[in-house]
Amino acid sequence: MYTLSLYEVKSGLLSKKFSSVEITKCFLERIEKYKNLNAFITVCPEQALESAKQSDQKIANGMAGEMEGIPLAIKDLYMTKGIRTTSGSKMLENFIAPYESTVTQKLLNAGSVFLGKTNMDEFAMGSANITSYFGKVVNPWSKDKPLVPGGSSGGSAAAVAGHLCVAATGSDTGGSIRQPAAFSGIVGIKPTYGRCSRYGMIALASSFDQAGPMTKTVRDAAIFLKVIAGYDEKDSTSVNEPVPDYESFVGKSINGMRIGIPKEFHMDGISDEVERSWQKGIDILKDAGAEIVDISLPYSKYSMAVYYIIQPAEASANLARFDGVRYGFRAEGAKSLDEMYEMTREQGFGDEVKRRILIGTYVLSAGYYDAYYSQALKVQKLIRQDLASAFEKVDAILTPTTPHSAFAFGEEPTDPVTMYLNDVLTVTANIAGLPGMSIPICLDKLGRPLGLQLLGPRFQEGRLFQIGEVIEKNANFPSLKEIN
Ligand code: GLN
Repeated sequence: MYTLSLYEVKSGLLSKKFSSVEITKCFLERIEKYKNLNAFITVCPEQALESAKQSDQKIANGMAGEMEGIPLAIKDLYMTKGIRTTSGSKMLENFIAPYESTVTQKLLNAGSVFLGKTNMDEFAMGSANITSYFGKVVNPWSKDKPLVPGGSSGGSAAAVAGHLCVAATGSDTGGSIRQPAAFSGIVGIKPTYGRCSRYGMIALASSFDQAGPMTKTVRDAAIFLKVIAGYDEKDSTSVNEPVPDYESFVGKSINGMRIGIPKEFHMDGISDEVERSWQKGIDILKDAGAEIVDISLPYSKYSMAVYYIIQPAEASANLARFDGVRYGFRAEGAKSLDEMYEMTREQGFGDEVKRRILIGTYVLSAGYYDAYYSQALKVQKLIRQDLASAFEKVDAILTPTTPHSAFAFGEEPTDPVTMYLNDVLTVTANIAGLPGMSIPICLDKLGRPLGLQLLGPRFQEGRLFQIGEVIEKNANFPSLKEIN
């Protein structure tokens, strides 16, 4: 039962093959059994069973919502009223959310069941889930040595891949849905900036952050996104565009579609196996009748530099609110107000968060603002123009999601810049505000998952589902049957 897709669970529940209480219990048992993965920060068994019971009632009464009775996991940066919400930080270790985020409210309105809150890199900063105050997350694909699940939505990725839930929410500022999806052999989509409301998501970089689904299949992601997308007056950057029936794109032919292959993405540091997996994707799309077009995105080589200026700049501003006065942790023993701020921030934040605050305040400081921050905004425009002109020639772009597969603990890069390069292929979508999706393509020699990334024009998520499903159907990616 636990390996079923969201689509299959939905029809199993509606045809009363099993109940929501049964499947919820099954996942709660698995969460307990595979506690060593450390995928969850908080598990909510009583709440989950109570809402599963209500769902079974609604199904019996013919009142089922779009995702009625489906057990989900929620990344721990979504405010979930009355439930601890930590963003992976000591700063919010005992913080109980006072209200519900729009995305999770929409999921609740659709009838879904929340199993708990998933582990993540502290304040969503990271690519390996090793910066969480609540400890590392283990990738369920690990065999001889424990592998990282990717980050920052590593707990959600591990929970979906390890069948500890049907699907999960993630969030993506620079790759945090797509990169862990690729490392963990699942599907993850970062929608167009503005597609989903950011209300009630603890912010990393507000102009890049987007909510999105992490699922077992492309169809599941389409069903899930339809529920969480849409305009919200509580988020001024959410866009008032109708939400299409994404599921109707799944299964449509891609004959005649033009797929762009950007030459700049064949970059140093991309492993040969990743190059081969990219070719596999190209062959699949060609065989399905798509036309492959070589394109160039000349400014994309500056994406990492732009990202690591704008993102820390916004993060340093967003994190200013954690000062020991308003939320969460407050250090003891300070002799003055200033000392209380300093001690709280020194003790409450981990090293990576402090590094980003330092970078952010530096690039925003009076003497360096023009040299870094305003320069980065100009290059951001050029990157956007690159993509806009590419999408005059092609319908979508295909690239690998990550430069390599998941690495083992202890083998992770020791310098931060090499770690940052995990997102070299994903950040462009955030900088340009475009939708991007990762789909599993194959396992490498070591048996570790690899993913391919599809990028599309603004609000063309439907097209990504259409093309993504063709890749999924032909890739024959093995689903993980059991955890070692
Ligand atoms: N790994 C990237 C970072 O650390 C992306 C984070 C994210 O998307 N939340 O900033």
